[in-house]
Amino acid sequence: MIEGVVSEQVLKVRGLNKSFGALQASKNITLDLRVGEIHALIGPNGAGKSTLIKQVSGELHPDSGTVEVLGQDVSNLDRVARARLGLGRTFQISALAMEFTVLQNAVLGALGARGGVFRFFGKVMRDSLLVAQAEHALERVGLIDEAKRRTADLSHGQRRQLEVAVALTMAPKLFLMDEPMAGLGAGGSQTLTAFLNELRQEAPILLVEHDMDAVFALADRISVLVYGQVIATGTTDEIRNNPEVRRAYLGEEDAV
Ligand code: ADP
Ligand code: MG
Repeated sequence: MIEGVVSEQVLKVRGLNKSFGALQASKNITLDLRVGEIHALIGPNGAGKSTLIKQVSGELHPDSGTVEVLGQDVSNLDRVARARLGLGRTFQISALAMEFTVLQNAVLGALGARGGVFRFFGKVMRDSLLVAQAEHALERVGLIDEAKRRTADLSHGQRRQLEVAVALTMAPKLFLMDEPMAGLGAGGSQTLTAFLNELRQEAPILLVEHDMDAVFALADRISVLVYGQVIATGTTDEIRNNPEVRRAYLGEEDAV
């Protein structure tokens, strides 16, 4: 692999199509994620944002089209193999084990990254490398002081931070995030916005988000998805001033 040649485009999605019965949820979707950028994907409910994210992560198989990560075609790889190649993922619905401690959740993430299977928790928690990776990730998201708390006792915002920490244990090369701000109060959104703003330098982010303040504050580029189709891709200014986008989405919601 020659540095610089493949590194500009961290993720390449080409011509993705996906139908659920008669419903075409992805229509010939093409987009890129570049080094150092946050590329936001916005669009009304049901536009197909989560469906796209799932096809990139490998949870769903497209009917046609390809996904490339760091120059490698991953279209035929499953979710676990893609994660090992550096695809980090957070979920719209929390995937945390609520009865476990914060540290235990992070350790489980690190274990998953190694391809390990969860059998005996005591043994896992004595694995000093796993624990060190987990603690490092918690430190980065500002949760290390909460390591011993039960996850169920965290605030919603702290749980979102923990999800990012779990993803960080895999040392991802890029992130897929599906509505990380969902349910956060203003303070929580601001904290997460500041964190994502720094994170992009280390790993670019394909960000699905409804919070338009966060999107327009963070995004280097925005793609607008309507009825499964990308109707525009551009800078925040280009998207804000795009008449078709305003008509199809932004105007209707009075979002900007
Ligand atoms: P968004 O994330 O933009 O709100 P989704 O990707 O969740 O939209 O859904 C896009 C469309 O596909 C919606 O009409 C949704 O009902 C439909 N859909 C999503 N997943 C499935 C599925 N597994 N089976 C059938 N229809 C689905
Ligand atoms: Mg969704």
